[in-house]
Amino acid sequence: MSNNTIINCPVCQSPIAIEPKLLMSGFKFKCGNHKCDASISISSDSQQVAKNAFGKFEKMKKEL
Ligand SMILES: [Zn+2]
Repeated sequence: MSNNTIINCPVCQSPIAIEPKLLMSGFKFKCGNHKCDASISISSDSQQVAKNAFGKFEKMKKEL
């Protein structure tokens, strides 16, 4: 069983599989798009972006 969550890369909009627990503990998830090579983590400049994306997803899940 997987706890992965899919969020869209803030740069190229590619889906990125993240594990919320790891993300919250500072783990970096890299975008699967090699041309983009962005990474998402909570402890860097992308903190706000990642938080927003994750918050959006959580909201979506609640509405489903
Ligand atoms: Zn990307």
